[in-house]
Amino acid sequence: MPIPGSGLAKGLAVTLRTMTKRSHTAQYPEVQPELPPRSRGVIGLFEENCTVCMLCARECPDWCIYIDSHKETVPASTPGGRERSRNVLDRFAIDFSLCMYCGICIEVCPFDALFWSPEFEYAETDIHELTHERDKLREWMWTVPAPPALDPAAEEPKEIAAARKAVEKAEAAAAAAAAAAAAETAAAETAQAADTEPPTTPSPEGDA
Ligand code: SF4
Ligand code: SF4
Repeated sequence: MPIPGSGLAKGLAVTLRTMTKRSHTAQYPEVQPELPPRSRGVIGLFEENCTVCMLCARECPDWCIYIDSHKETVPASTPGGRERSRNVLDRFAIDFSLCMYCGICIEVCPFDALFWSPEFEYAETDIHELTHERDKLREWMWTVPAPPALDPAAEEPKEIAAARKAVEKAEAAAAAAAAAAAAETAAAETAQAADTEPPTTPSPEGDA
């Protein structure tokens, strides 16, 4: 059977213990929270990478990505070549009042056009303002943290390897052209020197 008043003593002990501890309350907004750099705050759009493939809009479980586009004909780049058509983005918007921050749109984008930004201060009093259009989504892009440095032991990305090989090939071709030009100049100078050399006069001993 519990001693009468023991519960009260326990409660007071907890109160005294807590009173002597330092408070962990964050004084937001005076003090900004220290969030991990990869926090899911808001989504940024890098529209130059977007090909309007619609994958993100199709995979979004909340149907809160709105994309409009039209087709444009690109003339053939070579004579006799075929014209191409490409999608041009007219509207890209995300309704953050519906978004559940699952990150599926970012995962499925095959062209690296969507990124997480840790920014979270975009509360609005009007719910319509939570639909961020492409200009606003682009502004969030500048708050996206830089990716972590590559592992030095990692395999070279194939795009970088291809670009490096192309540069090396161009440099080798330029060096070969410069060497050939130098050799040609040297040969021309030798020939010119031989033409301008004075003719040798026969010695009197030889004539006798
Ligand atoms: S994070 Fe999820 S819910 Fe939000 S827009 Fe992307 S796919 Fe849709
Ligand atoms: S998945 Fe990526 S490339 Fe395709 S429409 Fe969405 S943002 Fe654009």
